[in-house]
Amino acid sequence: MQSDSEPNALPKSEPSSTQGKATQIIHNRRHKDSLGSPYSPVYNTTTYRFPDTASLQEVIEGRTPGNLYTRWGSNPTIRELEQGLARLEEAEDALAFASGMAAISASLFAHGGNGIVCVGDLYGGTQELLTKHFQPLGISVTFLLQHDSEQLAGALSKPGMLVYCETPANPTLAILDIQKLAEQAHAKGALLAVDNTFASPINQRPLALGADLTIHSASKFLGGHSDITAGAVMASTKLISPIALWRKNLGQILAPETAALLSRSLRTLPVRVQQHNENAMKVASAMTKHPAIERVLYPGLPNFPGHSLAARQMDGFGGVLTIEIKGSREQAAKVADNLRVFLLATSLGGVESLVSQPCNTSHHSISREERELHGITDGMLRLSVGLEDTHDLIADLQQALAQL
Ligand SMILES: *Cc1c(COP(=O)(O)O)cnc(C)c1O
Repeated sequence: MQSDSEPNALPKSEPSSTQGKATQIIHNRRHKDSLGSPYSPVYNTTTYRFPDTASLQEVIEGRTPGNLYTRWGSNPTIRELEQGLARLEEAEDALAFASGMAAISASLFAHGGNGIVCVGDLYGGTQELLTKHFQPLGISVTFLLQHDSEQLAGALSKPGMLVYCETPANPTLAILDIQKLAEQAHAKGALLAVDNTFASPINQRPLALGADLTIHSASKFLGGHSDITAGAVMASTKLISPIALWRKNLGQILAPETAALLSRSLRTLPVRVQQHNENAMKVASAMTKHPAIERVLYPGLPNFPGHSLAARQMDGFGGVLTIEIKGSREQAAKVADNLRVFLLATSLGGVESLVSQPCNTSHHSISREERELHGITDGMLRLSVGLEDTHDLIADLQQALAQL
């Protein structure tokens, strides 16, 4: 008979924060399986049965820990994922969501009610959420084009506000100084939230730099295979708890099955991100020499404006870069259309390489003048460099550019 006293089921030591990220995430599990499976079973359930009403009351009144209903976040598969996400960002706790936008909206609702100041460029969905929903609700939202200390101090007009930013930004890869933003936010009694999607926790950990909340679209590098839609927030238990209430009442939990898939993805995150970094650096370097290219924007290139800041606050420069084609919007589109290995698609962070033209996709809805204000030109192509062989990626770009 198998039982919990079988040697296989003996609890092994938990991963510790002194171990490396890869070790910690590969050994992140909450349940010891009596069959000896190295990974936990998937709890594909919405609810949990109790032997009697008295035991149910014990749990519902908080005297005994236990699971009640999956939408509330009480599900062992989801909690295990959240434990892993927290480990990766060196956070006290984490929450998993059905999408990146779910994570962003719950966080902004929970901590942005006293006013939000956005610094730098934002993901289109976040921008739309703030202008079409938050502002009409009467919540003050200020957009600062750049990190200007005086402007920031002026915009933080009362305590309890939220500073919100993304670094590296889309699609210019512009870098913001997280430590400085955190200091200035805190001096005014505000919190700092950073969308860390482009960097991933392997390359950048905003909480360690002083930020209060880290947010991810897990549909990108965390999922890593363009087959999962999910999101995450990492923070202290104190800041997580009001976000969990919004998640519960907005109904933004992700499915346990997706949580299990995301946990599987996280086990290869360190090695994937390292390879994305290497591949992107090789592609970026090769493109700087190409006569048809005006500029290459990649934080790893020594001549990139934010290079030294990126080198200071990041452990790697990421898998996304932007090339600017000499010529018109149509010529840049032609290059995108002629690529064979790079797929024409708008996401990023997957094992496959993707290309998108910001003026035709992520920044389609804003005017050319406004795009230019943000440094986004018609000739730009954003590349999400995947895990293919880099000589194939470079050859693909060269053949597409040769057809101009
Ligand atoms: C994709 C993305 C989001 C939104 O995430 P979804 O999972 O699509 O909801 C938010 N922020 C950034 C930087 C993104 O790239």
